[in-house]
Amino acid sequence: MQDKKIPYKIYLEENEMPKQWYNVRADMKNKPAPLLNPGTLQPMTAEELSGVFCDELVKQEMNNTDRYIDIPEEILDFYKMYRPSPLVRAYCLEKKLGTPAKIYYKFEGNNTSGSHKLNSAIAQAYYAKKQGLKGVTTETGAGQWGTALSMACSYFDLDCKVYMVKVSYEQKPFRREVMRTYGANVTPSPSMTTEVGKKILAEHPGTTGSLGCAISEAVEDAVTHEGYRYVLGSVLSQVLLHQSIIGEETMAALKKYNIEPDIIIGCAGGGSNLGGLISPFMGEKLRGEKDYRIIAVEPASCPSLTRGKYVYDFCDTGKVCPLAKMYTLGSGFIPSPNHAGGLRYHGMSSILSQLYDDGYMEAISVEQTEVFKAAEMFARVEGILPAPESSHAIKAAIDEALKCKETGEEKTIVFGLTGTGYFDLVAYEKFHNGEMSDYIPTDADLQVGFDGIPKFPGNEI
Ligand SMILES: *Cc1c(COP(=O)(O)O)cnc(C)c1O
Repeated sequence: MQDKKIPYKIYLEENEMPKQWYNVRADMKNKPAPLLNPGTLQPMTAEELSGVFCDELVKQEMNNTDRYIDIPEEILDFYKMYRPSPLVRAYCLEKKLGTPAKIYYKFEGNNTSGSHKLNSAIAQAYYAKKQGLKGVTTETGAGQWGTALSMACSYFDLDCKVYMVKVSYEQKPFRREVMRTYGANVTPSPSMTTEVGKKILAEHPGTTGSLGCAISEAVEDAVTHEGYRYVLGSVLSQVLLHQSIIGEETMAALKKYNIEPDIIIGCAGGGSNLGGLISPFMGEKLRGEKDYRIIAVEPASCPSLTRGKYVYDFCDTGKVCPLAKMYTLGSGFIPSPNHAGGLRYHGMSSILSQLYDDGYMEAISVEQTEVFKAAEMFARVEGILPAPESSHAIKAAIDEALKCKETGEEKTIVFGLTGTGYFDLVAYEKFHNGEMSDYIPTDADLQVGFDGIPKFPGNEI
């Protein structure tokens, strides 16, 4: 079964590891639109942003020109603990599908936090420490980001305050305990510890929270406490920059064996893993050196790229963050409660939004029962128990491989396997018990979210 020339897992040697992050914005003709101050509707200045974010991260957020940015030595050392991540040839999946396609996946679940999020968490904690801060605040939904950040903060001895979406806090007590093991302070959101939390609770008593709402609380906590800044695990351009390590390693591993991918697939929530995986490949595409099909996969229940509007919108429910231009469902959009598959953020990275709008990548949406079917098939043949989020990419990769079976084409497919699903077994349980349903929002459902998009000249939807 195995092609003798290509190992089951491709690893890089220590001296082959990337030492710089790649900033895809440098190669984009149309740069992502700047963040706007919601009060003045003018681009946010570095000074304004530095009240919320660490100084070095503000520079990275605004850097549209440097193609490469050195990864500090301390971060490279930390990366060595769990990187390189393997690029695995899915021989068993190919056989199961009977496809002539060659399937590879980049597996980011080999660390305690269980996902790619640690790649950016460690960078953000490092810059906070270097600035002499006491700690950072953040939100977490399913819990992977909070876990990654608590690991990174304990490594650099920083205080870590996590606002965890209440429904996850209650449904995923084990995630919470991992975070507490690493010393984080975890608060269910909305909470009574912030003004915005109190306001949201007064307006929506009994709400189980949302990511947008937890972001508002975390930002308020940071700006009202001396020595704290806010950090975010996805969506921002700085996060995509840190995640470019995924794509750089993938490209180096493929080049080592002269493998040319045809299709690159990633799941898309806020866009960080997909952005990181595709960045160097997109760079080649933008420079006209190569061509790849790049596919973003999102849940049909939270379809920001496939059904959203490309406009300026709020990043959070409480409307305390800058406005970002992105494909969005509106900051008030909350996916149906029976959606268990993750990727629930209402907006999309402004880098990916611009690339998608310019036609450099495709987007599809998939329904969650199909996603769990793909996850189960993958687990049974490849061994790894995938996160539901990652399984969106598995589903799309399987579909592309099956198309190759029909046409006889030997395409090379690479997809991002972003993490493991050990904390998602309630969702798996629902699937196994036949209790999982697919809810696709109607146009009227989506309109409610669109109605909350800010209206100003040039921002018509
Ligand atoms: C957070 C997360 C995602 C989605 O976030 P992106 O920023 O879109 O990458 C995907 N997979 C896993 C395992 C995650 O933890």
